[in-house]
Amino acid sequence: SGKWAPVAAVVKELEERCATPVGKLRQVADAMTVEMHAGLASEGGSKLKMLISYVDNLPTGRQELLQAARMTDDYAIMKVDVRGRACTKTAEFMTASQRRLMSGDETGLFYALDLGGTNFRVLRVQLGGKEGRVAKHEFEEVSIPPHLMVGGSDELFDFIASALAKFVASEGEDFHLPVGRQRELGFTFSFPVRQVSIASGTLIKWTKGFNIDGTVGEDVVAELTRAMERQGLDMRVSALVNDTIGTLAGGRYYDNDVVAAVILGTGTNAAYVERAHAIPKWHGLLPKSGEMVINMEWGNFRSSHLPTTDYDQALDNESLNPGEQIFEKLISGMYLGEILRRVLLRLAKEASFFGDSVPPKLEVPFILRTPVMSAMHHDTSPDLKVVGTKLNEVLGIPDTSLKTRKVVIQVCDIVAKRGARLAAAGIVGVLKKIGHDNAVKDGGRTVIAMDGGLYEHYTIFSECLQCTLKEMLGDEASSSVVVKLASDGSGIGAALLAASHSQYL
Ligand code: ADP
Ligand code: MG
Repeated sequence: SGKWAPVAAVVKELEERCATPVGKLRQVADAMTVEMHAGLASEGGSKLKMLISYVDNLPTGRQELLQAARMTDDYAIMKVDVRGRACTKTAEFMTASQRRLMSGDETGLFYALDLGGTNFRVLRVQLGGKEGRVAKHEFEEVSIPPHLMVGGSDELFDFIASALAKFVASEGEDFHLPVGRQRELGFTFSFPVRQVSIASGTLIKWTKGFNIDGTVGEDVVAELTRAMERQGLDMRVSALVNDTIGTLAGGRYYDNDVVAAVILGTGTNAAYVERAHAIPKWHGLLPKSGEMVINMEWGNFRSSHLPTTDYDQALDNESLNPGEQIFEKLISGMYLGEILRRVLLRLAKEASFFGDSVPPKLEVPFILRTPVMSAMHHDTSPDLKVVGTKLNEVLGIPDTSLKTRKVVIQVCDIVAKRGARLAAAGIVGVLKKIGHDNAVKDGGRTVIAMDGGLYEHYTIFSECLQCTLKEMLGDEASSSVVVKLASDGSGIGAALLAASHSQYL
């Protein structure tokens, strides 16, 4: 009928512009591989920063030890074997810190602080017992008040340090800090940082809706340390870790075959293990392991092959970081709901989708969050009750028809699946770079550790990502590729890296 023709036209155009046939995804994957090479070749050689993490040894247990550990539920600081060599030979490949960890009788208390985009988490881990296992861990999650994301540096770090101080004050009897020792912390900081050592690094730029004056170019460890001092908290930052690196370290610790980590949360990013000699811009000593973990900062990837729309263009123009993080703005949890809002707004304005007037709330940027989009998208009730309720509660649009609700779901589907398929293409790009995109013999596995609320909770998104990997890699190759959810892997990983870089080793 006349009322619906303009609606159908807008949706059809969206669908065409967002289309991701497998040929296009292959172009995206290839472009990702090319940019990875360029970013490794020289500083500033690519939109992909390909940051050197200074993590050149991930905790890797030999398979049998891991098996034994799994059987006894003995999730341990595993015996470290740098490249899967026989255990008796490993000592010579190890640093002092690793030997200490390998000795297995390290009993230590380590803290981690994970500053993401929406929340931050504080956690403590007790390493103990003969096999040096993670005897106990506790965490707390605090959401970041929005005004602190765009305020002053001291205000943000004071807020974080104060929450950390409170958490430390609640440390129970079952956690033990040896007499005379300072508490140590792994700091997971999920923004692009140029590191010069494992425990220092300067902020390159804010992302994900953060915009704080005076922090870019500063050492974030120094900022945190000063804030802790202001709180009277005696704690040393032993490791500064990107969340991708933490997830990779935490993932590898439980599974030897982990080669990469991907974050799909408020933002998106990836890290992977690269051969040190494949990093031309690295002029330092080659690490003994022959490997270096690279933080890709893939959120900033862009390519002419990416399917973008006028909605994406406008979102980018009006964002805090125009022209930046283009891949992230198509894929991640901060933006999917906002893209949906923009499409619905256009439908309201040009096709009277919600009646004669435009619902005022629909004009408010970021009012429609991705968890709400996800709840609507997963609605399987015959009358799409959840969609109706959310439209009413969140956008103040009452009494929507079933047909209207169906169109809303259709738009959710287009936007979410474009994101999921592009994320899969990114992963294929990484697998290509390390030569893991072909079928393997002998039951070899390639594991990608995944963390982030978007992947964890948005089932249609994560299932679509998995299917797309299969579609791109083919049945045979994809049968050896595993995407493993490592919830809060980044926090535990940071605590482990703090332990392996402890001042007391
Ligand atoms: P961060 O990325 O801030 O470190 P998380 O990994 O917990 O934190 O991811 C939080 C993000 O995940 C939220 O900002 C949101 O975009 C997304 N998210 C959380 N819950 C859901 C959900 N139920 N459905 C879809 N997305 C969700
Ligand atoms: Mg996070």
